[in-house]
Amino acid sequence: MPTSELPRFLREQRLDALEYEAVHWGKRPQTRQREAEKLGISAEEHDVWLSLHSSYYINLLGDEKVLEASKKRLIASATAAHWMRAHTVTFHPGYYSNKHSRMTDLRNCVSRLQGVVAVMRSMNIRANLGPETSGRLSQLGSLEEIIAICESVEQTQPVVDWAHIHARRRGSLRTARDFREIVETVERRLGTRAVRYLHCHFSLVEYSFRGERRHHPLGTLGFGPDFDSLAQVIADLDLKPVVICESPLLYKDAKSMRDTVYRKLGAVFLR
Ligand SMILES: [Zn+2]
Repeated sequence: MPTSELPRFLREQRLDALEYEAVHWGKRPQTRQREAEKLGISAEEHDVWLSLHSSYYINLLGDEKVLEASKKRLIASATAAHWMRAHTVTFHPGYYSNKHSRMTDLRNCVSRLQGVVAVMRSMNIRANLGPETSGRLSQLGSLEEIIAICESVEQTQPVVDWAHIHARRRGSLRTARDFREIVETVERRLGTRAVRYLHCHFSLVEYSFRGERRHHPLGTLGFGPDFDSLAQVIADLDLKPVVICESPLLYKDAKSMRDTVYRKLGAVFLR
């Protein structure tokens, strides 16, 4: 199916958000302007919320050459997001340098992102940069680091990947209270708006002592986190998050997650 047909397909499935995958940019050619604009028009027509996942080949903590290529890829992603009128540019900030302390890595990451945002502003690009919580312990991207970036860099918003947090903390998301704690932390630090319209990713995840290994479909025994608990928190706190499904059974699990949230909302409404 051509990408510009996706919004209509999603609407037919009663799904309403799409994260465009630009994840292989750097290895494969970038999306052309015409294609991006067509997708944007189609998303608007079918009222589908658009975001864009930037290249996996970004490392803001790499050496000079890697850093320059990474900044270029991030700006190219933001430009494409602008063409398609996407709201958020999700990206992984990079890998700890192992040359500096974690604090210095974080500081470097912040100042480099401030540079990227300055370029975006000079180009009149309005999309937010969305640094994502990372699944591997070798990657910068604990919840704390992502929040610190968003506190320090304008035009950013946190992207909370629940599976990544679960993997990074070795299975920490078990009950509604575990999810609620994270929601409350984001609210305390970044404000109510940041948490109410939180952009997040969800899948079941397998992990090792290094963190994330692979994603699994909803309902696979033995793997978390538990979507039911997240849906409970969404309903209880009346959140309006964008939840991007990252399960291997993309559409089936996206619909099942949507139905779970609606069931919880119905139950809260009737209470
Ligand atoms: Zn993710």
